[in-house]
Amino acid sequence: MSVSGEQLPNAIETIAVLGAGTMGHGIAQVAAMAGYAVILYDTSREALERGVERIERNLHRAIQLGKSTDDERDATLQRIRGTRQLEQTLRADLFIEAVPEVLELKQELLRQLEQSATRPFIFATNTSSLSISELAVAASCPARVVGMHFFNPVHIMKLVEIVVGQQTAPAVVEMVQAVGRRMKKEPITVRDVPGFASSRLGVALGLEAMRMLEEGVASARDIDTAMELGYNHPMGPLRLSDLIGLDVRLAIAEYLYRKLGSETFRPPEILRRLVAEGKLGKKTGEGFYRWDVEEREKG
Ligand code: NAD
Repeated sequence: MSVSGEQLPNAIETIAVLGAGTMGHGIAQVAAMAGYAVILYDTSREALERGVERIERNLHRAIQLGKSTDDERDATLQRIRGTRQLEQTLRADLFIEAVPEVLELKQELLRQLEQSATRPFIFATNTSSLSISELAVAASCPARVVGMHFFNPVHIMKLVEIVVGQQTAPAVVEMVQAVGRRMKKEPITVRDVPGFASSRLGVALGLEAMRMLEEGVASARDIDTAMELGYNHPMGPLRLSDLIGLDVRLAIAEYLYRKLGSETFRPPEILRRLVAEGKLGKKTGEGFYRWDVEEREKG
């Protein structure tokens, strides 16, 4: 889609990250490490404080591991400004939203930004499953809407999926690819289809592993070991599901089952049962595995 020069920024210098939770704080960290001025916005004071604390902890650990220096940490932290006021974000050239996975919430933010912004901007969503084109329906300029799908933990995972909506402008895709590279990520470019590239493959493997566990094919540990040692996956599919959160896995499986209509994505009973029992994986201390407190606090 064509887009006028007035609607897109000339360059990306300031990035506003909307939502300071699991993903938002990590995106803010890698953006600041890449030298961007970062505005971290969250409606919750607690989430904002916790987000900044987690960034500090990650940077501290990098120094301990000899991967960073005190000066780099200080420079990174100086580039990040936290706020609970959306008006304070309006000087951003690029917004990356990481608020909860609710279409209307993301659309409302986009609408508010378009109404209040006084300068051109790009709106990227970190959604792991929602359609970019559907989200962009709320925009007066859908050409500026794109997906930037990061992975958890953001400061460690190298992949960013750039998701191209039906109306996303090619110039926008190029700009966010460049931002991803500057953040030292490897961007892949994917059409806006349910599950993009990563979730569709990853969820299919995870659900099949759960069905195998249900059928008593092998223990959770042995199923995971099959993939770790037999296929060189750094982590087996069940352990990874625990890490992501079984509620998150279930929601994505239900969505893909609905959208793609394939039995591959029908959520297995074991997944439904664990979620109903509140066993959501690492974050609650139990899922397919038991997680101790220390492991959980590592983030
Ligand atoms: P989270 O719950 O950890 O964080 C969401 C944050 O948004 C919270 O701090 C909350 O206070 C804040 N928030 C809520 N409403 C807001 C609003 N109106 N304005 C500003 N802030 C608001 O969620 P998360 O796991 O970081 O996920 C965020 C997004 O990233 C979702 O779309 C999710 O699908 C996607 N995602 C998650 C993961 C993952 O592994 N967790 C991976 C990739 C993508």
